[in-house]
Amino acid sequence: MNNVVKNAVKKVVVLGGGTAGWMAAALLKKVLAGAVEITLVESEDIGTVGVGEATIPPIRLFNNVMGINEAEFLRETKATIKLAIKFDNWRVPGEGYFHTFGAPGKSLAFCHFHHLWLRARQQGDTTSLWQYDLNYLCATTGKFAPINAKDSILELPYAYHFDAGLYARYLRKLSEQMGVLRHEGKVQQVFQHPNGDIKCLVLENGHELAGDLFIDCSGFRGLLIQEQLNAGYDDWGHFLPCDRAVAVPSERFEKTVPYTRSIAHSAGWQWRIPLQHRNGNGLVYSSAHYSDEQASDLLLANLERKALADPKFIRFRTGRRRQQWQRNVVAVGLASGFLEPLESTSIHLIQSAVVRLIQLFPHNGICQSAIKEYNQQSQLEYEQIRDFLILHYHANQRSDSPFWRDMQQMAIPDSLRQKMAIFADNGQLFREQNDLFLESSWLQVMLGQGIEPKDYHPIANNFSAEKLREMLANIQAIKQEPLAKLPDHDTYIQTMINRG
Ligand SMILES: Cc1cc2nc3c(=O)[nH]c(=O)nc-3n(C[C@H](O)[C@H](O)[C@H](O)COP(=O)(O)OP(=O)(O)OC[C@H]3O[C@@H](n4cnc5c(N)ncnc54)[C@H](O)[C@@H]3O)c2cc1C
Repeated sequence: MNNVVKNAVKKVVVLGGGTAGWMAAALLKKVLAGAVEITLVESEDIGTVGVGEATIPPIRLFNNVMGINEAEFLRETKATIKLAIKFDNWRVPGEGYFHTFGAPGKSLAFCHFHHLWLRARQQGDTTSLWQYDLNYLCATTGKFAPINAKDSILELPYAYHFDAGLYARYLRKLSEQMGVLRHEGKVQQVFQHPNGDIKCLVLENGHELAGDLFIDCSGFRGLLIQEQLNAGYDDWGHFLPCDRAVAVPSERFEKTVPYTRSIAHSAGWQWRIPLQHRNGNGLVYSSAHYSDEQASDLLLANLERKALADPKFIRFRTGRRRQQWQRNVVAVGLASGFLEPLESTSIHLIQSAVVRLIQLFPHNGICQSAIKEYNQQSQLEYEQIRDFLILHYHANQRSDSPFWRDMQQMAIPDSLRQKMAIFADNGQLFREQNDLFLESSWLQVMLGQGIEPKDYHPIANNFSAEKLREMLANIQAIKQEPLAKLPDHDTYIQTMINRG
């Protein structure tokens, strides 16, 4: 058991000014206001990781709590709308499917919509499940405007693609307006109290930053959580073997699609993220299968637009810090672990870590019970996302490369094996408590990766064949209806950024 000092927490020091550092500083200051003094230190010489451009819908909650105006946000961060991810070549080369933020059809009590669709399919209906999903219909026709849906059937959940550097700069401006103090400079030394807690950070210029609680947002190295406190790391490279990325911006396409592309190659996958001013591109790959040069050549050959900078290489280890909160240090962002960007979850993990810290905020002193709760919750969150990512790799039917064949053969966590088995047996999906991904996400990726349920729920038999056909046709018509009234995605963005 750690020997933890019970002092009131008044001074919070954030180490790092990447997306994690500024999201943490901004939200803590916004929510805790005058209860804490927040200081952030960052080093322009060290810089940030410089990637991280695709998000998932909870980011809108973060922006709302921050009081961010959407038009201003879109303008400041050169953002576009994200309704889905399109996965190409993941099941087999030449085929693709969407994982949207929406849900297909409309579910009945005790029976998800897809059971009705499975029965209709057994009767010979060839309509794709995605034809019942408004997010898919908008993504593929390039339409978007927020829908104020009275009926959940017409909800259109969305997130953003944005320029990560501009987002951090924007949050910095908001944070400084609220009173967050910023220091520029490299942390050169770290001093600890006799009990092991961090006492202060010393910058190159000799300036000392003392604090009661330190948020380590120093990136992969984890300057406080790992280099000082040695929290340890669970390496999940055996489940998710990609360990490098190469990133390069390119000229934008004439028309911006409201979704991320994820294009699988023979030993990794390529992202394409449309922003207002450029495309973000990168290749996530396994260094056991591609040299850096091969990876960079492959990426550049598949840009379809002119590169705007030299390729930048990033090495990473997939996994999580064993203790994300240890003593008076909470690691947030890359310092707390890394799950590759296949489902754009890292920025969300920053958000949920800061929300968790706010919920357990140790205003009266740090106690072991709060540390334990925090670490348990973050471990579960990481493991659930890890399982979802493994599903994409493991459930492939590619026979064209050793990488994909190895993925089919690899041992997977029991939690995932059970989820896949029950879906394959009878089409059932069970979302574990607090799982970030809803049943509709699991459904789309399982079907997209080629897992075909052998059966469907008997409630789907409660209707005559004719009634079922009529119900499905009605739902499809309801989902199609908004399309005619929605503007093009580019028109929507342009209208928003022109707003005063
Ligand atoms: C290839 C790749 C693609 C990604 N794509 C996505 C995506 O699409 N969506 C998503 O949600 N996430 C994505 N991520 C993750 C995302 O980039 C990060 O979660 C996010 O940028 C947060 O990074 P960070 O702030 O933790 O670290 P960094 O950006 O590395 O920032 C570290 C900060 O610490 C400072 N620092 C370090 N050492 C010192 C020191 N000694 N003194 C002073 N300051 C110091 C640095 O100056 C910097 O300000 C991706 C990550 C990678 C690697």
